[in-house]
Amino acid sequence: MGAYRDHYRRSIEARDEFWADEAKLIDWQTPPSQICDFSRPPFVRWYVGGRTNLCHNAVDRHVATRGEQTALHFISTETDAEVKYSYRELHAEVNRVAAMLQSLGVGQGDRVLIYMPMIPEAVFAMLATVRIGAIHSVVFGGFASASLATRIDDAQPKVIVSADAGMRMGKVVPYKPLLDAAIDLAAKKPARVLLFDRKLEPMALKAGRDVDWAALRATHHEAAVPVAWVDSTHPSYILYTSGTTGRPKGVQRDTGGYAVALTSSMRKVFALDPGETMFCTSDIGWVVGHSYIVYGPLLNGNTTIMYEGVPLRPDPAIWWKICAENNVKTMFSSPTAIRVLKKQDPDYMKRHKLPALRYLFLAGEPLDEPTARWVSDALGGTAIIDNYWQTESGWPILSAQIAVEDTPRKFGSPSFPVYGFDVVLKSEDGSAVGADQKAVLTIRPPLPPGALSTVWGDDERFVSTYFGSFRDEALYNTFDWATRDADGYYFILGRTDDVINVAGHRLGTREIEEAVQGNALVAECAVVGVADSLKGQVPVAFVVLKDPSQAGDAARSAIAQTVDREIGAIARPAAVHFVTLLPKTRSGKLLRRSIQALAEGRDPGDLTTIEDPSALAQIKGALGIA
Ligand code: ATP
Ligand code: MG
Repeated sequence: MGAYRDHYRRSIEARDEFWADEAKLIDWQTPPSQICDFSRPPFVRWYVGGRTNLCHNAVDRHVATRGEQTALHFISTETDAEVKYSYRELHAEVNRVAAMLQSLGVGQGDRVLIYMPMIPEAVFAMLATVRIGAIHSVVFGGFASASLATRIDDAQPKVIVSADAGMRMGKVVPYKPLLDAAIDLAAKKPARVLLFDRKLEPMALKAGRDVDWAALRATHHEAAVPVAWVDSTHPSYILYTSGTTGRPKGVQRDTGGYAVALTSSMRKVFALDPGETMFCTSDIGWVVGHSYIVYGPLLNGNTTIMYEGVPLRPDPAIWWKICAENNVKTMFSSPTAIRVLKKQDPDYMKRHKLPALRYLFLAGEPLDEPTARWVSDALGGTAIIDNYWQTESGWPILSAQIAVEDTPRKFGSPSFPVYGFDVVLKSEDGSAVGADQKAVLTIRPPLPPGALSTVWGDDERFVSTYFGSFRDEALYNTFDWATRDADGYYFILGRTDDVINVAGHRLGTREIEEAVQGNALVAECAVVGVADSLKGQVPVAFVVLKDPSQAGDAARSAIAQTVDREIGAIARPAAVHFVTLLPKTRSGKLLRRSIQALAEGRDPGDLTTIEDPSALAQIKGALGIA
């Protein structure tokens, strides 16, 4: 591991020199005079004095060298549409939308809220916003009015960009009525709303406020809008965390640091040279979508595939068909999605030959070893790369860094710290942390380029939320629990407040879930700690079986035996409940907190981010509560 280790060490020990080199990956209108300003910890300013533009780096600079290459390849299995935009065409579209936004009064520093389905116009709107020095806030299209309203109030956008509707599983999902209701709820209303009409659902435009995209575009067809050169530290966007653990935090991103970190990560972590193709199955409403559907691939001159649809339609081979037909080299998805595929006929995984697909990156929640093994076997030659990060970090904190060194992977581990992240395992009582000992995963500031600069409009919350956990040192707290083995591989054990204390033994929910998932009958599961008068807490498991007809005492005892064998009887669930659906956020994360609350007879809390409320009804049913 010499090459990895040297590279990593240099990023920490020769920080400024390291990041000065990486900065050469992008264009600067004015080069930075200082690489890292950490004079006001924990705040950090990267590339001070530098002036640049995110849209210039993602689009304009590629037009001369790769103008005819496909930049954005849109595929929708919902509307049976497929459109390719070359860098030249993308440039023209972004110029038009930039002019449209300016005509609606958007200027430097103004916020533009984008509430859009997965269509190219959403990407045009993001790039156009940063082109003119404005700040976007993309809100996931699946959010209902109340969630949208709180995000409107927090960012106070001058303009909202939206559409008539999205499509999911062949059904039209109207956006406009939700948007109207959200604006009614919001305390501060946007002046104008720009609406792209997909003609999926009739929509009434509100006179004086709503503007039709196509009509406005027609008047700006030949537009050429110069990029606004902004300070490196100028905010490029706001993005809210998934809200798994409470009120979402508005992560604020800078411009120069993000452009450098993302371009660099495309080369070194995702191993893509300019011109190659990436397929990221996330949604532009999440950080993975921001960084690896939109900015990373475009900054690096790649072709990015934008997919509107689900992994199962028209059949469960659709993703692999897309990879095979488009020479996808690097794919990025989530463990949740792979577990969905695992429940389907395995033949779908074998239908397409995938000689070009080198890497499948998976992030967002723990990738249990059985699932990692399953997808690795199913895909044959493709390397499966677990990577760990957060909305806050903007790019991976832990991952193999293939192009630095192709280090061997261990299933269940996101490998090692990524360059720039000074990862520290911190025990809660301050004692030294040995191999395989559980501790809190923290990062010693300054956070590297690309990570959040602050919480939007709330510097105090940034400091107190993230840096206030430890008395002796202001470390950035990820609120995740981890171990490092003797070879230096990290393992994520779950969120720090999901730890279960059974008769004095501290067990991560993830450890127990992983053991349960080790049973061949199980497709997925959630384990929570439930208060117990005798033991303090006991683990309770909610299990989705591959074949639901197997639910019963035989399966229960088989699962108990697996847990006994993998961890020990101490971790054996006090109860195993069978359900067919688990409550998750819309970004695919288990809502353990809500399950736990129900199991303890408490209120499940804020559920605005839940994907399918009927999953909660199943939990209640299993627990025998009305
Ligand atoms: P909120 O902070 O609002 O509660 P959230 O933490 O779910 O929401 P994200 O930023 O989308 O929002 O998710 C980051 C979290 O996802 C990480 O802190 C970690 O708990 C989990 N996670 C991400 N990648 C991995 C991974 N590879 N293995 C294990 N857990 C992961
Ligand atoms: Mg979080």
